[in-house]
Amino acid sequence: MTTTRFAPSPTGRLHVGNIRTALHNWMLARKAGGTFILRIDDTDAARSKEEYVEAIRADLAWLGIEADREFRQSQRLERYEAAFEQLRAAGRIYPAYETQQELELKRKIQLGRGLPPIYDRAALELTEQERKAKESEGIEPHWRFKLDHDEPITWEDGVRGPNAFDPKLLSDPVIRRADGSWLYMLPSTVDDIDMGVTQVLRGEDHVSNTAVQIQMFTAMGAAPPDFAHEALLVGKEGKLSKRLGSLGCDAFRERGIEPEAIVALLARLGTSLPVEPIVDREALLETFDLSTFGRAPAKFDDAELDRINTAIVHAMPFDAVRHRLPEGMDAAGWHAVQPNVATVGEVEDWWRLVTGPIAQVEFSDEDRAYLGEAAQALEWGDDPWHALTAALKDSTGRKGKALYLPLRQALTGMNHGPDMGELLPLIGEDEARARLASAAK
Ligand code: GLU
Repeated sequence: MTTTRFAPSPTGRLHVGNIRTALHNWMLARKAGGTFILRIDDTDAARSKEEYVEAIRADLAWLGIEADREFRQSQRLERYEAAFEQLRAAGRIYPAYETQQELELKRKIQLGRGLPPIYDRAALELTEQERKAKESEGIEPHWRFKLDHDEPITWEDGVRGPNAFDPKLLSDPVIRRADGSWLYMLPSTVDDIDMGVTQVLRGEDHVSNTAVQIQMFTAMGAAPPDFAHEALLVGKEGKLSKRLGSLGCDAFRERGIEPEAIVALLARLGTSLPVEPIVDREALLETFDLSTFGRAPAKFDDAELDRINTAIVHAMPFDAVRHRLPEGMDAAGWHAVQPNVATVGEVEDWWRLVTGPIAQVEFSDEDRAYLGEAAQALEWGDDPWHALTAALKDSTGRKGKALYLPLRQALTGMNHGPDMGELLPLIGEDEARARLASAAK
C-alpha cells in the first residue's frame, strides 16, 4: 500500500515549488490507489503560524489536492521524545556544547585549510566531568545524531538512480536545540515510520538529509521508505529565482490562472512528457511516472502557464464555469465570448457589449446614413447578422471592412471582439435596432 506525504512548514504560504512537490506526492498516492498525507511541520513554534496552516489547506483545496489524512508535528512531541530516548540509550545521540560562534570559527578554519566543513565531533571527546563543568557554567547542551561511519549510505533514488554518501563526509546533524525544541530531521523520520510512509518524494535540496535519515530509520529499527528527489524548479532564465519562492496561489488567482492549468503544467514540467492543457486528472495520472523525471532543473515559465491556461479556458464547458459568469450570461453567451478571453475574469468586459451601455463611436456622415439603412434593414430570424450583412451588401454595394466595421462599432462600441453572428442574437432585436438608430443620428 503506497503512502506519501507532503510536509510543509507553516512559516509562509505555499509557493510554486512546494505546490509541485505536493502535487507529485498526491499523484503518486492516487495513481497507486494509496494514501496521501498532509503533515504540518510545525515544531518551530516561533516561526509557525496558524494562518499559514489554514492558507496551506485552502490552497491545496483550491488546487484539488486533497489529503486523506492530516497530522501536525506539534501534536506528536511525545513520540519524538520517546524516539530521542531510544536513540540516546542506543548511543546514537550525544550532547554538544559549542556556541554558534565556536562552530562558525571551526568551519572557517576548516575551509581555510581547504577541508570540508564537517563537525569534528569534539563534543564526543568530552569526559563526564567536562560536561558537568559546562552545565554548571549554565551551558545547556544541544543534541547531535551520531552517524555510523562504518558503511557508505546508499539508496536507489526514484529520480536520481543509485546514490551513495560517505557518512564521514557528513556532519552529525543537530536534532534538538538547547531549549528542547526539535529540528526537522528526527521528527520527520519518526513520522514517516509511524505514518507508514512508503515513498518520500521531495526536492533535491534534501538529498543529504536523506542520507542522514536513512541511518535514523535503521537506528530506530525501521526499513527506510523509497526515496526520490526531484530536480529543483528554476525561473525560465535557468536560475533559482526569488520570485518563484514567493509565487503562490493568490498571485495565480489574481492573474486568472485556473488551478487545472497549474496542475497540468506542474504535473509534467521537468519530465520527458509534453506539457499539455490536460484537465482530466485521470489522464494526467495515467502517464505520471517518476522514470520520466529528468535530472536537469525544471524551468518554470509564466508564458507557458498562460498558454496552458488559455487553452484550458477555451475548452471549458459552460457547466464548469456557469457559476463564475456574469448574471444573465447563458451558454450561448459563454460560447460567443469564450474564444476572446484568456481568463474567465475577462468575460465581464466582453459581456458588457451585450448588456450595455456601450461606447459611442463617431461616424462619418456616410457611415451614419449606412447605419440608418441598417436599422431599417434589420430583420429578426435565426441568423440576423448574416441576413443583415447579406441584405446590406446587396443594397449598398459595400463589402469587407466597409460593410462590417461600422456595424460592429455601432452595435458594440468596439473595433473587434466576439463573433457578431453569435453576439447579435444576444444583444436582441430591440436593443440592436436602437443602437444602430442611435449611431445613425
Ligand atoms: N518541512 C520540510 C520542508 O518543508 C519537509 C521536508 C520533507 O519532505 O521531508 O522542507
